[in-house]
Amino acid sequence: MIVRYLVLADIHSNLESLQAVLRDAGRNGGFDSVLCLGDTVGYGPDPKACIELVRNLDGVCVAGNHDMAVAGILDIGDFNAAAAVATRWTSGVLSKGEATYLRGLPEKTAHDDCTLVHGSPGLPMSEYIFGVRAAQANIDLFDTSCCLFGHTHVPAIFRCVAGSTPRCVQEEVSPGKTTDIRSGRTLINPGGAGQPRDGDPRAAYGILDTASGSMTHYRVSYDITVTQDKMRRCGLPLSLISRLSYGI
Ligand code: ZN
Repeated sequence: MIVRYLVLADIHSNLESLQAVLRDAGRNGGFDSVLCLGDTVGYGPDPKACIELVRNLDGVCVAGNHDMAVAGILDIGDFNAAAAVATRWTSGVLSKGEATYLRGLPEKTAHDDCTLVHGSPGLPMSEYIFGVRAAQANIDLFDTSCCLFGHTHVPAIFRCVAGSTPRCVQEEVSPGKTTDIRSGRTLINPGGAGQPRDGDPRAAYGILDTASGSMTHYRVSYDITVTQDKMRRCGLPLSLISRLSYGI
């Protein structure tokens, strides 16, 4: 029976951080399956290896905006210059089969009483849920107890009460902290696995334990310089290389 899910978002072609997350999750009690919240590719130097590893994990995955842009479905007009360069580079190195895999990912799915989206239940490809306002605007747009999302690259938990005047409260998230998610409805972001943006450069992930009804956020260090050296060799933009050092 599947009890413990590894929750991953925004891997962004960062193989070193993904491998560190998998090792660390193994040390933290392991996991039975994986829930992947999109943006497996884009920005980083190892899109092929990351797609292969995620596919081999055989979990439940949804599409991110970068996945869809790389696959040629989403227009990159809204992307900043560095993201657009990385998207074009990624599209150029993927095989037909890898692009077909990305194209086949759903924008939204539900699994084990959790809705999975990249951005938000209302706008899976574009909306950022940074605060309670956006959380409240989305609470009636999914019908499972919990909604797992990514896109902001910032770990977060919102505990909500639905209804005519939906109310959400943002809970504090810190590495190693376990949150009971049985009371109320929750929106949860595990943080960015491959390009964190909360000022902490360590890779972020979560373990969702359905037996205890809890979510634990984790951080793990990885050798950022290995990823950065690869990015330099691939000719990826300097701004994308340096931001990994700072977690921004
Ligand atoms: Zn992302």
